Amino acid sequence: AKDAGRNAYRFFSPEMDARAHQRLRLENDLRGAIARDELRLHYQPKLRVDNGQVSGVEALVRWMHPVEGLIPPDQFIPLAEETGLILDIGEWVLGEACRQLRRWRAAGHPDLCMAVNLSPRQLQRPGLDVTVLNALEAGGLPPASLELEITESSVMQEPEQALTLLRRLRAIGVRISIDDFGTGYTNFAYLRQLPLQRLKIDRSFIQHLADVDEDGVAPGATQDDVAIVEAIIAMAHKLRLNVLAEGVETEAQHERLSGLGCDEMQGFLHGRPMPADECERWMLDRLK
Ligand code: C2E
Ligand code: CA
Ligand code: CA
Ligand code: CA
Repeated sequence: AKDAGRNAYRFFSPEMDARAHQRLRLENDLRGAIARDELRLHYQPKLRVDNGQVSGVEALVRWMHPVEGLIPPDQFIPLAEETGLILDIGEWVLGEACRQLRRWRAAGHPDLCMAVNLSPRQLQRPGLDVTVLNALEAGGLPPASLELEITESSVMQEPEQALTLLRRLRAIGVRISIDDFGTGYTNFAYLRQLPLQRLKIDRSFIQHLADVDEDGVAPGATQDDVAIVEAIIAMAHKLRLNVLAEGVETEAQHERLSGLGCDEMQGFLHGRPMPADECERWMLDRLK
């Protein structure tokens, strides 16, 4: 067995070796990132489709690496998930998002809501409800001001455990939404047991929602996306769920969503994820 191990090692090419090293270094750095205060939250507004009013913000984590600069979540959340570091990171995100929400609610945005993304690992931890309760209490926040975003695949990893946990969180009064809706293998029988308030339609269905060719005609793929979005909205509304469209980048998409009766939207058209001070200025500008 020893020999096999040594032989196996030879299969690693120098590039693979370099990548493994890079990964190890990143993992080591990430381990200390919270203690060194290197994590940051950016906030992206959510708006009502009909009147453009801000309904809330979503907290999105970034890593301010001393050498690499600002690292986006896609480049370290999967690693954090694999190593279990996501539990500490997730707890920090919850705490920081609640602290920021408290500041904003005290300073001119009394009804603002905050959404936080949850990882599969967090949904497998029985103590999550206590962590959430602590973050809410520390900020003196009403539970309904906090929304937890989960994905279809993250609940399906440990469906029973996730269901128990989500029911407890719902009993506390926080809101729960399904993120990236339409991209997972939705199990409707399971989904209908979840205590949900909102579906967030994945950006991939919104991206080509308002495409037209040279003659002003919607291509077939666009007509398909319209049909899908229309069906999701109809189903969600029948289930008394709010629907939000992700990744709205153009006026034409906004208009199309308005015609389809979508409730809320998020996207670069109206607001990118921003640091807290910038987001605050953005919100004040819109109140004028
Ligand atoms: P997500 O939760 O689906 O967040 C939406 C992502 O789409 C964000 O990327 C956002 O910047 C981007 N986005 C928003 N509007 C537009 C648009 O109009 N066009 C385009 N092209 N993109 C748009 P970001 O911030 O890089 O986050 C990526 C993912 O990382 C998130 O996807 C989420 O799954 C994960 N993530 C971020 N923060 C956290 C966190 O605190 N905890 C966990 N577990 N995951 C997080
Ligand atoms: Ca999200
Ligand atoms: Ca999403
Ligand atoms: Ca996503």
